Amino acid sequence: MVVKVLVEDCLTNGEKDKMKKVIVAGAGLVGSLQAILMAKKGYDVDVFERRPDLRKAKEIGGRSINLALSHRGWTALELAGVKEKIEEIALPMTHRCMHDLEGNLTYQPYGVNGEAIYSVSRGKLNQVLMNEAEHYDNIDYYFNHKTTSVDFKEKLVHMKHDDTQKKVAYDKLFACDGAYSAVRNRMQRLRPFNYQQSYLGHGYKELEMPADESGKHRMRNDCLHIWPRGKYMMIALPNLDGSFTCTLFFPIEGPLSFESLDNDDKVLDFFKEQFPDSLQHFPDLIEQYNENPVGHLVTIKCDPWTAYDDVLLMGDAAHAIVPFYGQGMNSGFEDCTVFHQLHEDSKGEWKGLMEAFSDKRAKDGHAIADLALYNYLEMRDLTADPNFLLRKKIENKFAKANPGKWIPLYSQVTFSDIPYHQALANGNKQRAIMDEIMKQKDIHSRWDNEDIMQMMHELIQQKQEA
Ligand code: FAD
Repeated sequence: MVVKVLVEDCLTNGEKDKMKKVIVAGAGLVGSLQAILMAKKGYDVDVFERRPDLRKAKEIGGRSINLALSHRGWTALELAGVKEKIEEIALPMTHRCMHDLEGNLTYQPYGVNGEAIYSVSRGKLNQVLMNEAEHYDNIDYYFNHKTTSVDFKEKLVHMKHDDTQKKVAYDKLFACDGAYSAVRNRMQRLRPFNYQQSYLGHGYKELEMPADESGKHRMRNDCLHIWPRGKYMMIALPNLDGSFTCTLFFPIEGPLSFESLDNDDKVLDFFKEQFPDSLQHFPDLIEQYNENPVGHLVTIKCDPWTAYDDVLLMGDAAHAIVPFYGQGMNSGFEDCTVFHQLHEDSKGEWKGLMEAFSDKRAKDGHAIADLALYNYLEMRDLTADPNFLLRKKIENKFAKANPGKWIPLYSQVTFSDIPYHQALANGNKQRAIMDEIMKQKDIHSRWDNEDIMQMMHELIQQKQEA
């Protein structure tokens, strides 16, 4: 039974009479969250989704894809009033657990102060958001409605529903239709519009590690597991049902690649050699490997994110990024928070609002795209490197002793609200400082000495003065 929330209870600034129709294209994670936030402000929101209602699908969202949810995502979920509901379906991961070639395990905390990132099923999260959205009597969902085009001047969205074409009028349109956004596609024909798309030479394949006979997780479930192997890696995130979703990130072509593993023996030998401790946990590795598709990883940067100050790109439609910082959804959710704050500040005045959002936020979209690409190197290669591990140890020691002076880059991105472009700039400064520290003679034996901490203070001072 759906309990409808009365719009009049949620009106702020008396805006509803000024604005008629808000349309959201795409009922994914960002679209559903943005719909709730707009409905809470009292607007009439229609959400048009290309696919059928995923809540009616037999298995939610198909295979169990899970995502790491962190601070920026939680902030937006709290704003929308759905944090507690999502907490029920999220598993905290406080550490990375690295698996070496012999199956030895090393643990690294994610945060300096015991912070966690949270594993959550994408399908379940989407489902909870849609259920929450439908509690509002001013939100309506329309499934099997594919946005095909937009007439920006006439303010009409063109849709395809079954075999019929429709035109729907909007006052404001939020394009949350994902990385291959149809709305963005139309915006590319407007001038000026900057657009850049690139694919990684690596793709990914998801593999399910089922629960053991007693329904329990086969590995520690408070960790994100990583098998870093230099040019590629496998990761595993826990699910509520005792299973893990593993993802192999691997070159698409080349001597050792998805293309080169072209028979069952090669696949089995590869796993035996590279991920030996995982093999016992995959009863049906070969079947899954053969059945599950290879996904491609795209980075899309564009700006401006608005057209005519009436249409706004959000989430992957504005900034599709590779998944190595676990920030795609989190940054999309943060788009909603930032828009909400600007809207509050504007006190119901829409003129210039979408342009202000684009000006403020696009540089953060570009920065998180760059950070995510860099983090792939770090995850697949550096997490197994003793020099890198020592760097992290020194940084963490300094950060703990001087919390105001040094926030590790990972924490800035994952556990703070620091704008991404600022985190990127801070991270570059920190890297230069750590390069100097790591050059010190006998650093592996001397790292814990007080003179190293003193040197960090001096280098920070020098950077501030430069
Ligand atoms: P989407 O989730 O793509 O939703 C878009 C919606 O729009 C869909 O429902 C789609 O059907 C609909 N749609 C598309 N076209 C149209 C159209 N023409 N008309 C109408 N509807 C349309 N992010 C994290 O934060 N943490 C992670 O750990 C993480 N891991 C990831 C791992 C992998 C392997 C991948 C590929 C991504 C990962 N991400 C992660 C990224 C995350 O999945 C995305 O950033 C997030 O789903 C974006 O949400 P969105 O709503 O913008 O787009």
